[in-house]
Amino acid sequence: MKFGRGRELLAGPFVLKIWTQTSERLVPDADPRALSDIALALGLRRLAARERGALCAFVLHLAECERRGLHRSLGFSSLLAYCVQGLRLSESEARSRARSARAAARFPRVLPMLGSGTLHLSALALLAPHMTPGNHLSLLAQAAGKGKRGAHAIVAALAAGRRERLRRQPPRTASLVESRRIPQSVKDEVWARDGGRCAFVSAGGKRCDERDGLEFDHVVPWAMGGRSHDPRNIRLLCRAHNRLRAWAIFATPARGP
Ligand SMILES: [Zn+2]
Repeated sequence: MKFGRGRELLAGPFVLKIWTQTSERLVPDADPRALSDIALALGLRRLAARERGALCAFVLHLAECERRGLHRSLGFSSLLAYCVQGLRLSESEARSRARSARAAARFPRVLPMLGSGTLHLSALALLAPHMTPGNHLSLLAQAAGKGKRGAHAIVAALAAGRRERLRRQPPRTASLVESRRIPQSVKDEVWARDGGRCAFVSAGGKRCDERDGLEFDHVVPWAMGGRSHDPRNIRLLCRAHNRLRAWAIFATPARGP
């Protein structure tokens, strides 16, 4: 494969090309008004490619920053806070880049698609939380060339499938002994009560808006005596808040029931 001049960044099996050359036809501070139509169109094409290259490099750097926990060493509570306060990105820019960095770190197919423009950052940011080792190739193939609207449709179809699976989970054969498994009737009641939305409320009183990838969570963990058959002990949480909750329980010294 011919890359031309420039610097190459190794990221696992993927070699990222960072375009650094300038040519007589396209100098960064050249006055576009002096260019012919063809030179202007070519210049725009190259600039777009260069922008995608810079975006890939940024995403790759961000993934490495998160892997090292560098943002914490630099005094930021999260990667998002580092991007917004330290790197002066807007919150939406930061969010999409952080999500993309996590996806790129897990799935090598992501960066080449981002670099070629087959996959847009906004679409990747939508898909990233839903990508798994088992489905990412199919999701990426579906999203290729379709932009943000296509990604929205893919995510909506995934969410519909998950909701259907959640609803159809067969109740376990009648057992008098209460198990960790949440009965379907309790799930239905909790789903209706929580309005199909994550029930996490921050210390500041903000409720999470997430409606995709919801999981049923025991308020008092089953292992700590919490019941599965009592809707008051069950709530809907998105994956992020379920993980946060599990982490908090794991990191907090166990309390009595
Ligand atoms: Zn949530």
